[in-house]
Amino acid sequence: MQETIAFPSGTVNYLFRSAFEELWDKYDTQHTVIVTNEQIAKLYPQLVKDHKTLILPPLESSKDLSTIGSLARQLLQMEVTRNTTIIGVGGGVITDITGFLASVYMRGVPFGFVPTTLLGMVDAAIGGKNGVNSGMNKNILGTITQPQFILFDTRFLDTLPDDEWSNGFAEIIKYACIFDADLFDELSSHTISYYKDHTALNKLIEKCVALKTKTVVTDEKESGNRKLLNFGHTAAHAIENLYELPHGKAVGIGMVIASIISTQVTGLDERVTERLKGLLGRYHLPVRIDINAAKAMEILKMDKKRHDDMIDYIVLERIGKAVIHALPINTIEKALKKYGSAN
Ligand code: ADP
Ligand code: ZN
Repeated sequence: MQETIAFPSGTVNYLFRSAFEELWDKYDTQHTVIVTNEQIAKLYPQLVKDHKTLILPPLESSKDLSTIGSLARQLLQMEVTRNTTIIGVGGGVITDITGFLASVYMRGVPFGFVPTTLLGMVDAAIGGKNGVNSGMNKNILGTITQPQFILFDTRFLDTLPDDEWSNGFAEIIKYACIFDADLFDELSSHTISYYKDHTALNKLIEKCVALKTKTVVTDEKESGNRKLLNFGHTAAHAIENLYELPHGKAVGIGMVIASIISTQVTGLDERVTERLKGLLGRYHLPVRIDINAAKAMEILKMDKKRHDDMIDYIVLERIGKAVIHALPINTIEKALKKYGSAN
C-alpha cells in the first residue's frame, strides 16, 4: 500500500505493509548505503549481507556531531557520491543520524528510512526533522529535510523488546491526547499484546502516521500547529538526559506534568490527569519520578521553544484537544517543583 505525501520541502513515498526486500526492486546495491546499528545487523544479517553499510554502536550517546563527522569520512572513503541513496534502518537514533548525515553530506544526498521500532514508525521517522544532540541538549543541531521514502515492515517489531513497545506507546498516547479522544478510548480498552497482532498494529500505525503527517504538511517548519506534537516533550527533554530515561518514558512523565499545568492554565478537568496516568500505566510507562527541579530548569531554559522568559507550552483543553500556551518560565519551574515534591 503506497501513499505519496507532498511536504513543502519534498515529496515522500510511504510504503505501508511492505517487506524490506521490496526496496531492491527499485534500488540497486551499488547505489545505496545502509546505515544501521550492531544489534539490528546481528538480528537481521540479510540486511547487511552484500550491501555497503555503516554500522553504529546501539547508543543514543552516538547521536552527535563527532559521529556525523566519522560517518562522512567513511562515505568519502567508499567514494559515495550524490547518485547514492542512504537508507537508515533502525530506531529514532539511526533515522535521525541518517537524515542529518544525508542532508549535509555533499550538501545533500537522497535518503530513505526503514524504521524498526514502534516509536520510529509512528513518530521519529515521520516529518523530516533530523537532529543530533550537543551535550545535554537534545536535537539542538539539525535540519528539516524529507526522506524520499519511509518503508513500514512490521515484521521488524517481532523482535522488539517490551520496553521499546512501551516507548512507542508513549507517542501513540500523545497523539490520542492532542488530537483524538476516540483513540484515547480505544487504547484504554486494549493492551500492548492486543496490538502485537499485525492487523491491529498496522491500523494503529497508519492512524498515527496520518495524524502526524496532516499536522506537518501544513506547518513543516513548526511555526504553528506542529508545535502541538511537542505535548509532554518540553519537560521530557529536560529530564531525559538528566536521568538517562528512554525517550518514551520521559514523554510519559512529561505528559503528566503538562496535564497538571493544564489544570492551572486551561481549567482542564483534574480527572484527566488521573485517566492519563491510568493509560500510561496500562502500557507499562512510569508516571512518577523524583525530579531535581533546579537541574531540570537549567536544561529547560535552553529549549528551542523558548523566547525571552516565555516558553510555548502545549497544554490540553480536554482529551483530544491541545493548544499552545505561552507560559512564563517560572510557572514551569513551580510546576516541576510541585511535581518533584509531590512524588
Ligand atoms: P537505534 O536507532 O539505534 O535503533 P533507538 O533508541 O531508537 O536506537 O532504539 C532502541 C533500541 O532498540 C536500540 O538498542 C536498538 O538496537 C533496538 N532495536 C531497534 N529495532 C529493533 C528491532 N526491530 N528488534 C530488536 N531491537 C531493536
Ligand atoms: Zn517524542
